[in-house]
Amino acid sequence: MGFEKRDLILIAGVLLFMVGLIPFMQPFYAVIIAVSVYVGIKVFVGRRKKTLDKKIGEGFCLECGEKIIGKKCPNCDIPKK
Ligand SMILES: [Zn+2]
Repeated sequence: MGFEKRDLILIAGVLLFMVGLIPFMQPFYAVIIAVSVYVGIKVFVGRRKKTLDKKIGEGFCLECGEKIIGKKCPNCDIPKK
């Protein structure tokens, strides 16, 4: 879970959400809900990324579009970076 620019946008959104909750509940609970939402989104995004990584694997060959396995294309057998 690296820290990206996207995370700043997410944090800003969660902070706004928290501020919006404060009129309806104690700030303490608003903070807890905001943190849970943030962690939930991070876990969800992390899992989705992992699934995508698994699906994509190591990428595709630029020459023939075959899946790269072991940094090599099974068709062209050219090592990929
Ligand atoms: Zn290839």
